[in-house]
Amino acid sequence: MSEQQTVDDCLFCKIIAGQVPSNKVYEDERVYAFKDIEPKAKVHVLVVPKQHYANIAKVAQADPELLAHMVEVAQGIADQTYRGQFRLICNTGELAGQSVFHAHAHVLTGEDLRDLPM
Ligand code: 5GP
Repeated sequence: MSEQQTVDDCLFCKIIAGQVPSNKVYEDERVYAFKDIEPKAKVHVLVVPKQHYANIAKVAQADPELLAHMVEVAQGIADQTYRGQFRLICNTGELAGQSVFHAHAHVLTGEDLRDLPM
């Protein structure tokens, strides 16, 4: 995938639309959250805005309330799985390790993460 990816061939748009299967953990009008296919922690969920933005910085620029809501959703997942404690990662740009160019936040929780090198 590349940063030039369009909405039409966006994997996460397809997951949100139900065209590609996913393990959903949460959904509301603005956000969809599902298990990462290659989990890096006991709980590894991707929190994704339903509207397509290329990365999290674009979300912050266009709709700061949506960004705040994504963090609230992450908190809710951690509240249910690991005493409200979690790590939030948003790779922004190819050189930062972003591989899917639809904004998303990795929520890592469910275990002690202090030794997790990520
Ligand atoms: P990035 O590398 O862009 O920060 O994160 C993309 C994440 O999407 C990766 O952690 C990767 O494992 C996950 N991923 C890629 N393809 C799929 C898929 O088809 N289903 C799910 N559930 N996760 C995926």
